[in-house]
Parts: sequence; C-alpha cells; structure tokens
Amino acid sequence: MSALRLKNVCTGYGPIDVVRGIDLDIAPGQRVALVGSNGAGKSTLVRAINGLLPLREGRLEWGGESISSSSAPQRTRAGIATVPEGRLLFPECTVLENLIAAATYGEPKAHRTQSLETVFELFPRLHERSKQTVGTLSGGEQQMVAIGRALMTRPRLLILDEPSIGLAPKVVAEIFDVLGRLAKSGFSLLLVEQNVQLSLRSTDFAYVLRQGQIVFSGESSALLDHPEVRRAYLGD
Ligand code: ATP
Repeated sequence: MSALRLKNVCTGYGPIDVVRGIDLDIAPGQRVALVGSNGAGKSTLVRAINGLLPLREGRLEWGGESISSSSAPQRTRAGIATVPEGRLLFPECTVLENLIAAATYGEPKAHRTQSLETVFELFPRLHERSKQTVGTLSGGEQQMVAIGRALMTRPRLLILDEPSIGLAPKVVAEIFDVLGRLAKSGFSLLLVEQNVQLSLRSTDFAYVLRQGQIVFSGESSALLDHPEVRRAYLGD
C-alpha cells in the first residue's frame, strides 16, 4: 500500500491554478524524485502535500486515509515532515535549541531524547556543535540541522525541497548518504531537486513536472536514459 497518494490534485494562488491534475504515489521506504525546471510548480506541490496550501480539487491519502482537509500541524503529527527550501532555521539559536523547538508538543520526553540521539547519530557533527548558534554554521551544517529538525517530529515521510542548493559536492554527498540510510531504515523520501542528475541517481522513482502537470514518470534509472528527459533537463 502507498504511504502517500495524490489523486487529481489541483492547487494554486489567487486566480491562478499552478498545479493541475497531479497523480503521485510514494510507497513506504521509497525514494521519489520530483523534477522540473524553475516555476514548474514543485514547491507549490510540496505545500499542497504538507498542508500549507489548500487543495482546489482532488484528494490526498496518507496510509489509506484522506488527509485532504487536515491542517499542516495535523499532517506533521501524522508523520509528514518538510525540509523547506532555504531551511528557515532560527539563526540566533543553538543547534540544540533549533532541534528541540521542533519536537512535537506534548510528546513524552523519552521520545524527544530518542529523536535527538537518532539525529546526532546520523550527523555526529551536529552533536559536536550542539551549543553553537546556527547562524555561524556552514551551509552544509545548516542543511543538516534542517534535516535533523524535520526528523525531530518522528516522520515517516521526509520531503526535501532543494537540499543540495549552494552546497559543495562533498557535503552534498555526505547529506545524500544519510538520506539513503534513512530510506533503508523505512523512511519514505520525496526529493525536490533542480540538480536532475543527482536527483535521479539518488531515487527509485521520479515524476517530471512541467507547467504544473506530470509529463513523465518512471523508474529514476530509466528516466536518466530517456532522450527527452536528457534533452530537457540534462543538457544533451
Ligand atoms: P523553483 O524551482 O524556481 O522554486 P518551482 O517548480 O518550485 O520553481 P513554484 O515555486 O511552485 O515552482 O512556482 C510555480 C508558479 O507559482 C510560478 O509561476 C510562481 O510564480 C507561482 N507562485 C509561487 N508562489 C506563489 C505565491 N505565493 N503567490 C503567487 N504565485 C506564486
């Protein structure tokens, strides 16, 4: 069964429909890429999934239940976490404060401790720097905090919006290694990346979005060899 299922999802801003008729599935433990050029509607679709933007049409299911009208906090509590584009951390606060701030309100303290241990195990560098203010960290370390913060909500689906942007290749490799490990341990991933090569190499299945609609979908390895995908997104 799918973890997340989108059926005919439409949403937008004001009078404009930005994404139209999206069908998309993510299985438990599956790594899914959402690919498309600037303005294709990727971030808009992410907002429709995490509840920041209401659906205009269609249906969202999570574990077989409709979450179409659930609020963003309800979706977070249900296990959907987003690492937003630009990270949106608290730069004046420490690494630890940023992580703790995201632990779900009302959760037993033991859960919080366990989540912190998981984050520090995945990113030992954050453990070393737990008392450092986030604004003084490198871009890569900040991205690790953003991923760690999402993990503090104990999600089953992690949505990452442009996690590699502006980062050095070595740091990107480090972060993507952690993402691979998370998927192996059962997390579903939805990866939104402008770096199509990286995106298709790091996922199992991909959807290509153009002007708000899915124009191709398939195994990521197959899309990597698809002539039209190569021409449009890989500079062939
Ligand atoms: P990018 O990679 O550049 O972020 P994207 O594929 O994520 O692109 P979106 O950010 O979803 O694309 O934008 C899709 C369209 O929706 C664009 O035409 C954009 O101008 C428009 N749009 C995005 N956010 C808003 C908003 N808050 N109000 C009105 N229009 C918006």
